[in-house]
Amino acid sequence: MAVLVTGGAGYIGSHTVAELLARGEEVVVADNLQQGHRQAVLGGKLYEGDIRDAAFMDRVFQENRIDAVIHFAAHSLVGESMQNPAKYYHNNVYGTLCLLEKMNEYGVKKIVFSSTAATYGEPENVPIVESDRTLPTNAYGETKLAMEKMMRWFDTAHGIKYVSLRYFNAAGAHESGRIGEDHKPETHLIPIILQVALNQRPHISIFGDDYATPDGTCIRDYIHVTDLSDAHILAVEKLRGGGESSIYNLGNGKGFSVKEVIEIARRVTGHPIPAVMEARRTGDPAILVASSERTRAELGWKPRRDSLEQIIESAWTWHQSHPAGYAD
Ligand code: UDP
Repeated sequence: MAVLVTGGAGYIGSHTVAELLARGEEVVVADNLQQGHRQAVLGGKLYEGDIRDAAFMDRVFQENRIDAVIHFAAHSLVGESMQNPAKYYHNNVYGTLCLLEKMNEYGVKKIVFSSTAATYGEPENVPIVESDRTLPTNAYGETKLAMEKMMRWFDTAHGIKYVSLRYFNAAGAHESGRIGEDHKPETHLIPIILQVALNQRPHISIFGDDYATPDGTCIRDYIHVTDLSDAHILAVEKLRGGGESSIYNLGNGKGFSVKEVIEIARRVTGHPIPAVMEARRTGDPAILVASSERTRAELGWKPRRDSLEQIIESAWTWHQSHPAGYAD
């Protein structure tokens, strides 16, 4: 049986495809290549199209024997979601509805979902546990929460079991050096810092230094993309073994401020990486750090590349060999 990976040509999707292939899984990728890259898909069968296109999805489900879906296809930028929430509701929420309807039509009963710490909003507790309040501070997080809730009702009505993985800040690149992070435009902290180190930008802008954190800059929990991929595969195994629907955090449990990330990147790259203070970006919570205790206990997951130096080094290797991303 095959695993369908929607958004499998994107950053986290392509790393998960690589790990699935390494484990001998049959992989089918569906990606509209709006943000994904054909070259990032290292194997399996790639279908270019949109999950909202019913005829396209019929072809994907009819031509393959799919027993599980890993669903990445979505927009994921906090800032953009505040400017254009409709884009997020359309692609993320309506896209997931279309996917779940097709899964139900074709009797596919397992889905692993790419969720986010942004579902929590300003945390009640640090580190955040899965039972904490969910009150997103941005439209992106709100759509991901709506997608999770939709899955719950499809489980109740149709027995489609889901594992929702709420991840914190994905970073780093694959050990093979063949795939990494390439967003256009790039908005994420670590790749932008590394573009400064490659002299492609003059400086890094720090979005706010008046947060209630020790150095005033936002604190995030950075997790290696391959550790995220491992969790998706464990989640598929759990569902194949008859596991119940569940929600898990994925993070290292350790937070770094924007200033600390820049400092580590200076050490890793040997570049001074000038920083300029700017206003807050709307929608950013001050601190997002995960408790992944439940994930470790129930999925048997353990992050194996958990030092931020190591994560930034792997990203740096990719950025140096692909200074223009997949265009190289
Ligand atoms: N950030 C920043 N400058 C940038 C990009 C990001 O100061 O050029 C900050 C951002 O405000 C947030 C953190 O870095 O506090 C991580 O942002 P990113 O966009 O990488 O991930 P997010 O937390 O939004 O998923």
